Amino acid sequence: MVPAFLMAALTLMYSYRQQQNDLVRESVSVVRNLSRVIDSELGSAEVSLNVLSASPSLQTPDYVAFRGQAQEVLKRGLINNVALIDATGQQLVNTAVPYGQPLPKTALIDLVPRVLQTGKPLVSGLVMGAALKRPLISVMVPVISRETGTHTRVLSAVVLPAHFEKLLTGYGLPPDRISVIFDQTGTVVARSHELERFLGKPIAPGLSDGLKESQEGAIDLKTLEGVQVLSSFSRSAATGWGVAVGIPQDSLTRELRHGMALLLAVMLLLICLGVFGSWWMGGRIAGAIGKLIEPAFDISRGKSVTIPELNIREVNEVGRAMMLTSAVLETTSSSLRSSETRMRSILQSAMDAIITVDDRQVIVLFNAAAAGMFGCPPEHAVGQPLVRFIPERFHERHAAYIKRQRDQAAAADAYGVAGVAVGVRSGGEEFPVEVSYSSVREGDSVFHTLIIRDVTARVRAQEALERSNTDLQQFAYVASHDLKTPLRSIAGFVQLLEKNYASKLDAKAVDLVRRTAAAATRLEQITDDLLAYARVGSETKPFVPVDFQEVFAEVLQLLDAALNNVNAVVTAGPLPTVQGDKTQLVRLMLNLIGNGIKYCAGTPQVHVTALRHDGAWLFSVKDNGIGIDPKHYERVFEPFKRLHTQQEYAGTGIGLAICRRIVTGHKGRIWIESESGQGSAFCFTIPDIATEQGA
Ligand code: ADP
Repeated sequence: MVPAFLMAALTLMYSYRQQQNDLVRESVSVVRNLSRVIDSELGSAEVSLNVLSASPSLQTPDYVAFRGQAQEVLKRGLINNVALIDATGQQLVNTAVPYGQPLPKTALIDLVPRVLQTGKPLVSGLVMGAALKRPLISVMVPVISRETGTHTRVLSAVVLPAHFEKLLTGYGLPPDRISVIFDQTGTVVARSHELERFLGKPIAPGLSDGLKESQEGAIDLKTLEGVQVLSSFSRSAATGWGVAVGIPQDSLTRELRHGMALLLAVMLLLICLGVFGSWWMGGRIAGAIGKLIEPAFDISRGKSVTIPELNIREVNEVGRAMMLTSAVLETTSSSLRSSETRMRSILQSAMDAIITVDDRQVIVLFNAAAAGMFGCPPEHAVGQPLVRFIPERFHERHAAYIKRQRDQAAAADAYGVAGVAVGVRSGGEEFPVEVSYSSVREGDSVFHTLIIRDVTARVRAQEALERSNTDLQQFAYVASHDLKTPLRSIAGFVQLLEKNYASKLDAKAVDLVRRTAAAATRLEQITDDLLAYARVGSETKPFVPVDFQEVFAEVLQLLDAALNNVNAVVTAGPLPTVQGDKTQLVRLMLNLIGNGIKYCAGTPQVHVTALRHDGAWLFSVKDNGIGIDPKHYERVFEPFKRLHTQQEYAGTGIGLAICRRIVTGHKGRIWIESESGQGSAFCFTIPDIATEQGA
């Protein structure tokens, strides 16, 4: 509102100035008019005198007749009385005094000679009339003597100040205007206010100062009675008489003051209305918002809320949004509760121990299975550090592991299998565990959940299995070794029998001896292979770097005769150095390349390659032989499993079993890629040295 009010006040001031200017203009024109009216009044008195002065009764002189004529003139009302004065100032006739009564000398005695000398009419200032004994004004004209042709007498028409007063009051000026008519000497002749008090007194000094400056204008001054006015004045050039009209400052500014007061009142009223409106509106808003407070708290407590229709649209919309929120929240929290219940029941019924720790490795969750496994109730476990359930000698390694995990999983959630570790029960008993974990970031904190399985039984069974395997291997080794000597003896004896006694035996017996010799030789082969198979498992030499080029060259040397027999072509691409047991690797390649040459219908071609794949060297021994049906891919790696008869292809069926054992011993894998009739590719992997060292 303030700018609007300032604008209104400025407009008011501007219009006040405008009004004041209009008023001054109007006031100046009023005084000019009044001044003209006075001039014309005095002029008409002069005209009346001129008519009288031409009267023949004056020449006669017949004063009685003249008096009668003069009395006629008085009837018009302007002139109070007429006097005829001689050159000495003696009144000869005065219509105000009964004829015959002695008359005094005129009070205008000073002016008479001037009128007579100049022969021109004259208007006196205010004087005290000698016959009337009251202030008056006289208009004088000379009377010419027909006899002498000179001016010997003067006719004076008396106009009373009351006449001018009537002029002022009759002009219809507003009653607060203080107007004055003054004569050429600056004496008050008539006044709208307090004429008796100021009649005949000099006009206000301010006005006379103004008159010295100009004949017409408007100035601020103090009137005779001391009222501050804006006075407009005009003085007639003909008579020297003038009029001034003063507008009291009070009434000048009254309108402005009224306007200002009204503006102030309106402003106050509007401010009051505004304050009241704000208070009322604020109350309504506060009331409506107040109705939302309790429901808001209810929402925070998870309650569903119902908010009644509120009388403010925006607040009502907030209310509806809150109701919607509460409904959504309720649904969400109920599904959260049921999911939590399900989770809890899963946690509690799980066979595995589930432990959640925070970022400081302090337990925050410990399920029933964990309590059973570690022999510690959940209420004692929660809040404890996790290391309480890890043997002390592993604490350092555990801390290092956690640090590594934290660095790796800093940016994202993580999960994985930590592998087999050792746990410790409350009683101090240690036991093997298998641990998988997941890490979840919740805001700034990270929680790790460990799922722990007691693998005591499995570890024990594995140990037992390993023991029995070792026993079996040792038994096979010893048995095949022990069998070798008597077998060799049998073979030797049978050969001797065939050589020395063939002539003494009939053909049937010789055939039997030959078959026995063949069976013995085959049994010897089988025993050798079995021994070789057992040896791969039982002899463990430390791995050293083995150059596969050398392995390949050695194999070619060993196979030299066989190659030449069938004109086989065995080639190889660049081969790497791997970590391993050279003897075993030679046997591996010998078996695979040997098979490639053996199981071939035409001229055998075998090609060996190696390439890096997934952190390991991937070897391939590819031939152009008879191929293998995919359904036999697994079978052929089992000991003594063959796809052909001894007649078709000689062999014991242990070669590929040894190959698998060697590759597995080198932490690799072996498999076949082949299509029947299109040759076979035996592939195996051996971990790369570089990757191995880095891991
Ligand atoms: P052996 O060669 O002594 O029979 P292996 O264990 O070396 O025993 O081979 C098992 C069987 O796998 C073989 O009898 C043969 O049928 C098949 N086999 C092995 N290598 C090849 C090959 N390169 N091509 C075709 N078949 C093969």
